[in-house]
Amino acid sequence: MEPIKRNILLNPGPSTTTDTVKYAQVVPDICPREKEFAGLMKGLREDLVKIVHGDLDKYTSVLFCGSGTINIDVCINSLLPEGKKVLVINNGAYSARAVEICQYYGLPHINLQFPVDERPDLAKVEETLRNNPDVALVHTTYNETGTGIMNPIREIGAIVHKYGATFTVDTTSAYAMRPIDIEKDNIDFCMASAQKGLMAFTGLSFVVGNRAKLVESKNFPKRSYYCNLYMQYEYFEKTGEMHFTPPVQTIYATIQALKEYWAEGEEAKWARHTRVFNAINAGLDELGFRQVIRPEWRTGLVSSAIYPDDPNWSFEKVHDYCYERGFTIYPGKISTTNTFRLCSLGAIDEADIKDFFVVFKEALKECGVKTPVVYKN
Ligand SMILES: *Cc1c(COP(=O)(O)O)cnc(C)c1O
Repeated sequence: MEPIKRNILLNPGPSTTTDTVKYAQVVPDICPREKEFAGLMKGLREDLVKIVHGDLDKYTSVLFCGSGTINIDVCINSLLPEGKKVLVINNGAYSARAVEICQYYGLPHINLQFPVDERPDLAKVEETLRNNPDVALVHTTYNETGTGIMNPIREIGAIVHKYGATFTVDTTSAYAMRPIDIEKDNIDFCMASAQKGLMAFTGLSFVVGNRAKLVESKNFPKRSYYCNLYMQYEYFEKTGEMHFTPPVQTIYATIQALKEYWAEGEEAKWARHTRVFNAINAGLDELGFRQVIRPEWRTGLVSSAIYPDDPNWSFEKVHDYCYERGFTIYPGKISTTNTFRLCSLGAIDEADIKDFFVVFKEALKECGVKTPVVYKN
């Protein structure tokens, strides 16, 4: 196996992958309607449930061909009964995306907004549910990737269930990284994509959720032909296959990535991401960079640094300098503050971050940015 040039991706996915995962895509051509291929998907679907410690009788997974946003679309449009309302608990860019999905489908919804650097106020969540008994579906994001804030999903889920609603959580940027227990965390449906925590490729997304609730959604309005959760589930249960053409090569890569996931182990993998995260924060602290989210609220996967008030600072220039040397940094996603992000996902470790900061410091020097960096106030 020829080694492939290794780039260190510090963007929030797709992530750096191993060569064994890259090469797993190189397989003989196969028609995905062959039994051999359907057999592969059965094990894959079960593994995806096991990652969040779901009991296979109670929980199932449904695969889709698309990037991660397809899951948010699918869950919101498929899990709302006729005449009911969606509540989106929104403190960032990814929950805002769920609000837009409600708007595009014309679904009755409440956009319960909180500042992007604060956790949702649980008393307000409860008050909203008490005052709106027609809310049947509540959605939020676990690790809000725009900032790296971690939302208290277990506590939110307990409130949601007290009011008899269904709880969908966008776990895309935490799944297979920070340990999740679907039942204990009070999640009815969570979601992710192969290119994030699993360290495979874009094209395969999946919803893991409560089978009984999924079956209940059979008679809910069908608002999309391609993106309906129950229809895709039913097709899998009947045939073991995706309704439409699956991302064949990505599925092979994901199966290899799952082997590597189990070999590394949930705890060891989370410990590695934590090492990377700590090394990123140490590097940013040393250079004087301020971050958006206070330390105790960070999920431990995204560092969101504020642009310094230095006339020589240029994200583009720093980005390009690092990019040419194999390191990718990423802009922020907050409208009110200029930020850039460094993320801890992917097949990388502490030593890669040390290497990164050597290059990053050179980039700052090259641009003439003073270090430690300065802020006006
Ligand atoms: C990456 C991500 C998604 C999916 O984004 P795509 O660009 O569609 O892959 C969804 N939610 C969260 C929280 C994410 O981090």
